[in-house]
Amino acid sequence: MIKTTTTSISLAIYLWNVYLDYRQYKKLRESKVPTVLKGIVKQGVFDKSREYSKDKSRVKFVQDLYFFTLATLLIVENGYAFFWNISKTLLESMNLTGSEVQVSCVFVLVYMLFDIVCKLPFSLYSTFVIEEKHGFNKQTLGLFFSDLVKSILLGVVIGGPIISAVVLIVRKTGRDFYFYLWVFMFLFQIVLLMIYPTLIQPLFNKFTPLEDGELKKGINELAKRIDFPLTKIFVVDGSKRSGHSNAYFFGFFKNKRIVLFDTLLETSSHEETCAVLAHELGHWKLNHILKNLIFSNIHSFIMYYLVGFALWYDPLFQAFGFKDQPVVIGFLLFSYLYAPVEELLSFLFAILSRTFEYQADAFAKALGYEAQLKSGLIKLNIENLGNMNPDPWFSAWHHSHPTLVERLNALGFSKKTD
Ligand code: ZN
Repeated sequence: MIKTTTTSISLAIYLWNVYLDYRQYKKLRESKVPTVLKGIVKQGVFDKSREYSKDKSRVKFVQDLYFFTLATLLIVENGYAFFWNISKTLLESMNLTGSEVQVSCVFVLVYMLFDIVCKLPFSLYSTFVIEEKHGFNKQTLGLFFSDLVKSILLGVVIGGPIISAVVLIVRKTGRDFYFYLWVFMFLFQIVLLMIYPTLIQPLFNKFTPLEDGELKKGINELAKRIDFPLTKIFVVDGSKRSGHSNAYFFGFFKNKRIVLFDTLLETSSHEETCAVLAHELGHWKLNHILKNLIFSNIHSFIMYYLVGFALWYDPLFQAFGFKDQPVVIGFLLFSYLYAPVEELLSFLFAILSRTFEYQADAFAKALGYEAQLKSGLIKLNIENLGNMNPDPWFSAWHHSHPTLVERLNALGFSKKTD
């Protein structure tokens, strides 16, 4: 019964997503430039972006079917119990006690490696065939695999202690675990926010301070105008991996840094770069990051509370071939049952995120960047070959950002964007 429910839930979610993908795919086959983009986007660019999206979409159909089948097999064939037993045997062969903490850490590692191997053909194909074909891939195989090894090592260094802590918190605090776990995860989030840009990101990319000049002057003036406590501006070598471009900021309180992708600087004028940044800084000024943090923490608090119902529910574990009730397995099985709520919530978060994007655009517009933001957005969309003709359902469900057309319209649409 529990297994049937679990598989039915994942089947329903899978079919819903395939339906949305299909709707989007149909839209991509339309060769006419949408009326609103006429005069802004040339037919050739539009066709290129369609080809790119179509290629990605076709892989996604195969990939989703593959992962759905895999997940179903794991449920039906008691795959998690199988991995759990392997982990136990591994520890026994090393003469270790096999405490719950130890088995959990090994289990997560074994499962993570299994997952990576399963995903590998798809990540290789999308990077070295699709991104390559459309001129975005700048990675070598060597870089790809060194990234992968670094990520696995990071996963072990960070994941190991976290898993141990989660298991110990649940075991030591019993039914009240959700509160303590929430506090712990909150603190962990803050630590991660602090170390990610300064310790982790530099493992993958090189950050160079922006040279003195027009752009730096412009950015400093912008920061001053809105009281953004800017201390440093960096350029990151995003072009090492991909031709996609971006900008972001990080840091706490009075110590903020701005990061610009070298790819962004290559394609945008100084004013457009400032306009894109004005949007990013709008997120800061309007407290969007803080608001997101609050919402996601309310969500995790409720979720941890609900996990409690799964953790001590014996029939759930038995249904999946477990004699005992390991904490990590409880979390994993809970995630299957919770998936519909998660889907719905991510839809609501997408709506919230789009609201924030409009507000940040309006913020940049109020600073006088309307024209530059429009041309900047158009350029970014063209450079990144973003989907220019989104299906409304697909877009509403998945997109964290409004589409180009929606954003241009909200900024006050006029064709004179140059
Ligand atoms: Zn934004």
